[in-house]
Amino acid sequence: MRITSIVPLLILLACGLIPLGSGCGGETAPSTETASARPSPDSASNDAPQPARDWTNVLLISVDTMRADHLSCYGYKHKTSPYIDTIATEGAIYERVYAPKSSTWPALATLHTSLYPVTHGVRNNGLRLDNTPDTLAEVLSGEGYTCGAILTNAAAQNWEGFSYKEGVREEPADKIATVTARTWLREKQDEKFFLWVHYIAPHSPWAPPEKHRLFGDPTYSGTLTGGQDDMAAAMLSEQGINDADLAHIISLYDGEINLTDMMIGILMESLRELGLDQNTLVVITADHGEELYEHYRFLHHQASVYEGTLRVPLIYRLPGKIPAGKSVPDLCGLIDVAPTILGILDVPVPASYQGVNTEPLMRGETVALGPAFGEWRDKILFVRTNEYRYIYNPLNYHPPMVNNQRLAGLTDAELAKRNGMPIKEQELYKVSEDPYEQKEIAADNEEAITALRALLDGYMSQYSWKFNDATDNRMKQEIDPQTRQELENLGYVM
Ligand SMILES: [Zn+2]
Repeated sequence: MRITSIVPLLILLACGLIPLGSGCGGETAPSTETASARPSPDSASNDAPQPARDWTNVLLISVDTMRADHLSCYGYKHKTSPYIDTIATEGAIYERVYAPKSSTWPALATLHTSLYPVTHGVRNNGLRLDNTPDTLAEVLSGEGYTCGAILTNAAAQNWEGFSYKEGVREEPADKIATVTARTWLREKQDEKFFLWVHYIAPHSPWAPPEKHRLFGDPTYSGTLTGGQDDMAAAMLSEQGINDADLAHIISLYDGEINLTDMMIGILMESLRELGLDQNTLVVITADHGEELYEHYRFLHHQASVYEGTLRVPLIYRLPGKIPAGKSVPDLCGLIDVAPTILGILDVPVPASYQGVNTEPLMRGETVALGPAFGEWRDKILFVRTNEYRYIYNPLNYHPPMVNNQRLAGLTDAELAKRNGMPIKEQELYKVSEDPYEQKEIAADNEEAITALRALLDGYMSQYSWKFNDATDNRMKQEIDPQTRQELENLGYVM
């Protein structure tokens, strides 16, 4: 797959060297070509003529590391996401959606193939899809769609079906991705298109521009930053961090969400300007969320098997087809997104898909859905039902939290003690009453565990899932040094 190189031009655009009305350096929001700068979160429509286009485009926006419960449309205490909120009021918002693993590549592969990681094979960051799955882009290409992908993370994956793929590695990545997407939309506005944009601002390090630092205490006098070295030290230190430090870094994370939210607002404005907002299905989701010190002082996502990293937002908007303001409470997964998009488009869902078309839920009908299964590679298996999360860890595997790059100054003995997330052999949480999984109750609930283990046994048998299934060997053999380095820079343990 060819990766085109228009990024230098876009940096010029983003720096204002080609007039766009925007500054460079991260503190100025990218504006539109008109001088009207910031789009209004409430501007649902405009007076621009809408050319007759008798097809439905698709704009899929995934945001790296964006927790559902830190968006204001999901009830968060701060107004972090005014633009996404507006999209949610114009479409359907899914309340309980789960990633199959709290890592980018496995989760995005599930999003695009509607397969569990054990089937698509991307059990860890850096592993490649084989050519077997019918990706969403391949299916839509077969339906005459022009498919483009603009990716700020996981761009090295061999995504099939996209005739255009741009990997953005420079900063400010989300801003460059937005400018790239606007250009692509202008070029393809008269074609039937599927555009996938993956944003990354909420992924650490957290250093939002000043104008997005809206949610913290301005009198904070501590020294903690949202840099990855700082947070690694905080995770492994004996004394931990105090409440003010934690509130401060969470406010930085929220600021990064606010930044990406504005980018999404600008993309929506592009659709309106081009007269595409009425015939483009807009889907907003995330690959996974983030641990914010809720379990074992963890401040990243890769090692986690808990709600904060596994629950993701999901919103669909298509005027005239999807009822505005619909809330869908049913438990489902990223695995269900591709078949649901196809269902909305009336395109047949490939027989290979393991997820379900949930489109009837938006019309108030019922759909048979199972629980949400997930894994930590081939080491830990877990399931989320309406009532419980059950984590099964018979190998007593403790996922490492911090990689070697950030362990300077600690001895091996200290690492062994502190760097593995000490997940127990089995853990049970009654998430219907304990949504942040603070009270582990496996010891007192044998009956529930028996039923949940039966669910896991059924999953293992149906999908040939096994513990210690040679994923470590695959990672050693298949992940190239450059990809490994890029992933370590993002804080992943490889
Ligand atoms: Zn990610």
